[in-house]
Amino acid sequence: MTTHAHRLHFASDNYAGICPEALTALQQANDGYEYSYGDDRWTAEACDLFRSLFECDCEVYFVFNGTAANSLALAALGQSYHSRICHEHAHVETDECGAPEFFSHGSKLLLAQGANGKMDPASIGDLVTRRSDIHYPKPRVVSITQATEMGTVYTPAELQAIQAVAVRHRLKLHMDGARLANAIASLEVKPRAVAQDSGIDVLCFGGSKNGLSVGEAVIFFDLAAAEEFAFRCKQAGQLASKMRFLAAQWVGLLRADAWLQHARHANQCAALLAERVATMPGVRLMFPRQANSVFVQMSPAAIAALRDCGWHFYTFIGVGGARFMCSWSTREADVLALAADLETCAGRHPLGCLDA
Ligand SMILES: *Cc1c(COP(=O)(O)O)cnc(C)c1O
Repeated sequence: MTTHAHRLHFASDNYAGICPEALTALQQANDGYEYSYGDDRWTAEACDLFRSLFECDCEVYFVFNGTAANSLALAALGQSYHSRICHEHAHVETDECGAPEFFSHGSKLLLAQGANGKMDPASIGDLVTRRSDIHYPKPRVVSITQATEMGTVYTPAELQAIQAVAVRHRLKLHMDGARLANAIASLEVKPRAVAQDSGIDVLCFGGSKNGLSVGEAVIFFDLAAAEEFAFRCKQAGQLASKMRFLAAQWVGLLRADAWLQHARHANQCAALLAERVATMPGVRLMFPRQANSVFVQMSPAAIAALRDCGWHFYTFIGVGGARFMCSWSTREADVLALAADLETCAGRHPLGCLDA
C-alpha cells in the first residue's frame, strides 16, 4: 500500500463542497440590489417551498448553522427552569459546547437511553415521572435527532410512540434534522410523516450536510412557539443581513427535489460500503446502516493503518468506532477504494488480534 495524503472523502458530510443546484441559485441571486434581512424574494420563495414540501402553513427561519438552529429552537419551547430531554449521545448534549443550555439561560438537558442512538420512549417517561417536586427542573421538551448520531433512523411508528409520551406528559417536541433529508430518503415517506404528523413542534432542517455552503432552516409547525423567534435570532447574531444568499441556496436545493436526490445518493454510497464491510473479515458493523453513515468496529492497529493510507475519519462520535460518512458528492469509485484499503488493513490487524 502506498501512503496518500488527505483523503477527506468520508470524514464528514460537511467536508463536501456546494452542490451544483445551490451554487447555480447563488449565482442567480447575485444580481444587483435586493431587500435585506429576509425581505427579499428568494427568502419568500424558499419559505413557500418549505410550506409546499410539508404541505402546511409553517413558519420558516434561516440561520447559519445547526448549533444555533437547535439552541434557539430549544430555547423557544420553554423557560430556563424547564429541562429538555435528549438521547445521551445527542449532538445537542455532546457536540454543541453547552449552547443549548446557554441560549435557554442555563436550562438542564436530561439524558434518555436507548439502543442504536434512538431514545426508548419508556426512558423518556422515567425522566418525567422520576420527580415532580420543586427541586427538579421541570421536563418540557423532548429533542429527537433524525437521522441519529449513529446513522439510524426513527420510523414514523417510533416517532409516534415518543409523541404519545409527549402528549401524556405535555411535552413539546423538537427535531434535530441535521440529516433529515437522509432519513426521509431512507424511509421513503412524505416529509410530513416524520414532522408535524409525528407531533414535531419545531424542526431544524439541515442544509450544510445536504449540499449548501452554509445554512439550516428552523421550521415551526407550532405557530404560537414562533412568536418573537425573529428577535431571538437577531439577538443571537443569527440574522443574515444578506439573507438572499442563504435562502437562494435553499431554493436551489428544494426545487425539483435536489435535496432528496442528494440524500438518496449519499445513502446508496453508504449502503454499498456497509455491504462490503458486512462480509469483511476482521471488522464488525456497529449499527444497522440506515442513512449515509457506516460505523465500523476495527482494531486500533487497523485504524492506524487505514489512517496511514491517508483516509480521514472520526472515531469519537457516539460510542466510538470508525465512522465513514457519505455525501452528495461521494463517488462509487471512492467507496470501492476505501473498502479495498479497509479490507487490507483489517486483514493484517483483525479485531481481537493483539499483535499490532
Ligand atoms: C452536524 C450536526 C449538527 C449541526 O452542527 P453545526 O456544526 O453547528 O452546523 C446538528 N446536529 C447533528 C446531529 C449534526 O450531525
